Amino acid sequence: MKTPLSVEEIASLKASAVFLEKQKRGKPAQFSVRFLVVGGKVSADDLRSAAALAKRYGDGTVHLTTRQGFEIPHVPYGKLDAFRKAAAEAGLKQALSGPCVRSITACPGTWCRFGSIDTQAIAQMIFRKFGKRGNLPHKFKIAVGGCRHCCSKPQENDLGVMGSGGCFILFAGGMAGKTPRWGDKLPAVIKTKKELLETIGHVIAWYSACGNPKERFGATIERAGLENLLRYLAERQNVSAGQ
Ligand code: SF4
Repeated sequence: MKTPLSVEEIASLKASAVFLEKQKRGKPAQFSVRFLVVGGKVSADDLRSAAALAKRYGDGTVHLTTRQGFEIPHVPYGKLDAFRKAAAEAGLKQALSGPCVRSITACPGTWCRFGSIDTQAIAQMIFRKFGKRGNLPHKFKIAVGGCRHCCSKPQENDLGVMGSGGCFILFAGGMAGKTPRWGDKLPAVIKTKKELLETIGHVIAWYSACGNPKERFGATIERAGLENLLRYLAERQNVSAGQ
């Protein structure tokens, strides 16, 4: 059945993390609604709220996304407004969509016996500083891993943070998708959280300035050259060190 919504309205809903599902002939339009999770950590209260919403408005199931978020599928168009109102009242935050810094994924870090950095705290810190940051050519995904096992796949994100001996190693320009790319390991070993935030800020600023519209960060590195990014970072890191 054709959805009663225009293309513009569907795009507007998508920007609010409400996604039109594949249409089934003769069936009403249904939507999946995605919610924000940072570091893969969800409170028991939010889980209860999600379960109740799924039962009331969806088909009683919740889908866990590949980026550690969750979405409630199969919400009929006619119930969408009531669903969104109930979700907001329950305190669930809508996931991020579009060309911005998306939610941060992270492994357990502190309670994994291999963890060398507090991945959960780092993920929250990065999200507080850069989450939702727009004015970017495309989406920008960040993952934090506690050690060289890289369970959260930092090399497959636009920016990956990997713990190593209590320090941070960065990978730039990774992505999955139709043309997967392994992130480039940046040469600097970062020792402090302050330096980590500064470097991430510089990386995002470079991408914002150099990326073409709809170009993923890895593709910008391929086109502009990794040495261009490294030179930009070295110039700014020298300035920071001299301050
Ligand atoms: S990346 Fe390391 S610290 Fe994180 S879950 Fe895997 S083994 Fe544990």
